[in-house]
Amino acid sequence: MTQKQPHHSIADNYQQVLASIRSQEDRFHRPADSVHLLTVSKTHDADKVRQAYVAGARDFGENYVQEALDKITALAQSPQPLNDATWHFIGPIQSNKTRDIAGEFAWVHSVDRLKIAQRLNDQRPDNLPPLNVCVQVNLSNEDSKSGVPLDAAESLCASIAAMPRLQLRGLMAIPAPCAEHEQQRKAFQPLHAAFKELQQRHPTMDTLSIGMSNDFAAAIAEGSTMIRVGTAIFGARS
Ligand SMILES: *Cc1c(COP(=O)(O)O)cnc(C)c1O
Repeated sequence: MTQKQPHHSIADNYQQVLASIRSQEDRFHRPADSVHLLTVSKTHDADKVRQAYVAGARDFGENYVQEALDKITALAQSPQPLNDATWHFIGPIQSNKTRDIAGEFAWVHSVDRLKIAQRLNDQRPDNLPPLNVCVQVNLSNEDSKSGVPLDAAESLCASIAAMPRLQLRGLMAIPAPCAEHEQQRKAFQPLHAAFKELQQRHPTMDTLSIGMSNDFAAAIAEGSTMIRVGTAIFGARS
């Protein structure tokens, strides 16, 4: 699958993605401003993150703990610190990284097992509000991919909802890549249905974290409340 390589500035790209979100909300009869933009800054340096910040980005997604900590530190120490940036961890989680994640991030989108949830709950510092958590669901059921199978999401959500230092916010998924809009929508549908059902039981669930550069229109059609976009803002990753 080819990914468009943007030729414009990060600020132009950011504004273009925002405009596209607004037009997809309209097209699929979603309320205005019901879809949030998470700017995925993994592999991009602090200077590029700052450019996105200046363009208006406040929520940033990172996949690699050490890379993220270096950037968070650099940006907090710079002459104009990014005090109101919110950091989201969206990558696979190793047990030995949960303390850093619990201490430095406001959100985690990629919780897919009980042991990791328990560690994050135990290690979330008392001086911070509860850590916002999405359960990552594996939609394609490939063994290699992260995520809990959809039929096990309910039980993991119930466990997390009972943990005092975690705030259960929703579901996240990364479907198998696919170029066609209707196919993309089909992949998201079971997740959207499960999300609506789980929301009945857990009113804190307000976030369906689906949609990336190549499929965010389909994700918005299927109820996404937060799209995670890297390439369309920063260009291709090397
Ligand atoms: C890299 C990544 C993204 C962004 O993907 P793009 O195709 O660059 O928009 C979104 N979500 C997760 C979990 C990622 O790892």
